[in-house]
Amino acid sequence: MHVCPVCKRSDRTTKLSRYWRTLPAERRAAAPHLARPVLHDERWTAPLGLLALGCALLVSEAWLGLVGVAGGGLWLVTLRDEVAQTAKRRADWHRKQYCRRCRHDFLP
Ligand SMILES: [Zn+2]
Repeated sequence: MHVCPVCKRSDRTTKLSRYWRTLPAERRAAAPHLARPVLHDERWTAPLGLLALGCALLVSEAWLGLVGVAGGGLWLVTLRDEVAQTAKRRADWHRKQYCRRCRHDFLP
């Protein structure tokens, strides 16, 4: 058992994921902050399309191609970072403990 950092006790701590599974739907709706972070439907098509368009314009030596390549690249990097952050939050959620006494969730 893990010791809760708030009440310093371990008799009522449990894995957050296990606690979440046991909650009825109405209690889940009342505690959305305890839910597993959702995976957003990442849209890769638009930034990849912009990057491809930029490359095509660069080949035809249009200056707008540089803008397309830079914008598409930046968009892809931002999207990749968001995906990585979501993956980390989900991994943390699986490691988290929950104290039923003081209703505090924490990483062990
Ligand atoms: Zn506690």
